[in-house]
Amino acid sequence: MSIGIIGVGIGGVAAAAAFDKFGVHVTVYERAHRLQESGAGMMLWPNATRVLKNLGLLDDIAARSGTTHHFLVRANGGQVLMDIPLGDFDVPALCTRRADLLASLQSAVPAERILYGRDFTYLETKKSKIRVHFADGSVAEHDAVVGADGIRSRVRGQLFGKVEPRYRGYTRLRAQCCLPGRDSACRDAPRHPAASRAVVAGRGMVTKLLPAALFEHNLRRVYSYEP
Ligand SMILES: Cc1cc2nc3c(=O)[nH]c(=O)nc-3n(C[C@H](O)[C@H](O)[C@H](O)COP(=O)(O)OP(=O)(O)OC[C@H]3O[C@@H](n4cnc5c(N)ncnc54)[C@H](O)[C@@H]3O)c2cc1C
Repeated sequence: MSIGIIGVGIGGVAAAAAFDKFGVHVTVYERAHRLQESGAGMMLWPNATRVLKNLGLLDDIAARSGTTHHFLVRANGGQVLMDIPLGDFDVPALCTRRADLLASLQSAVPAERILYGRDFTYLETKKSKIRVHFADGSVAEHDAVVGADGIRSRVRGQLFGKVEPRYRGYTRLRAQCCLPGRDSACRDAPRHPAASRAVVAGRGMVTKLLPAALFEHNLRRVYSYEP
């Protein structure tokens, strides 16, 4: 069985790592010419970290991430409106740098199985095989193809019709910053507020603060959006 995956984002590379773990021959095609570090941090809830555990990657990612023990919702004056404990699952809730997550997932896929500079154009069914066409004129053949080519997916467009994303009026600003000297406090006191994911509700605006890559980079991810 041979599987082709279009796109080496988090979805594509996680699927590739899972197929590879089960001994399925997989090839990933990515239009970029190399792995790109994009985005800031992201929250990995226990449903995601459980998958990472099954892939054997949880320890690696957890070592580079900040653990989130509480999900706090605060009013703009700072008082806690809601406190959801996240420490009672069998796996942790983590906040990690997107680039670290991608690199860790990629390490679980043999390097020669990820082909860069391959811009997918269209699929074609030929008997029981699927032919995958690329912008440079090259063609690959697989038993099945997974479209993991993101929000403007060409695979989805070909199969189900083209749908453009609709702007819903939310603008999000994101940044990462260092808070020197806070990492040891978090390590020693895991219930310290700094080890929490905080959502601060203001008037017409929400700000979120997440501990990202806490121990290695001592980063916090901050973002806010205005509805
Ligand atoms: C601001 C923001 C914050 C978020 N925060 C979180 C969070 O905290 N936790 C969480 O779980 N999720 C979060 N998400 C959602 C999460 O980022 C996405 O669901 C996830 O990145 C989607 O991954 P993907 O692999 O499907 O697509 P992508 O990451 O978009 O990857 C698609 C890949 O396909 C490639 N590609 C595209 N077209 C082609 C082509 N024609 N040929 C070959 N390759 C192609 C692209 O180059 C890219 O590498 C957030 C999203 C946003 C926008």
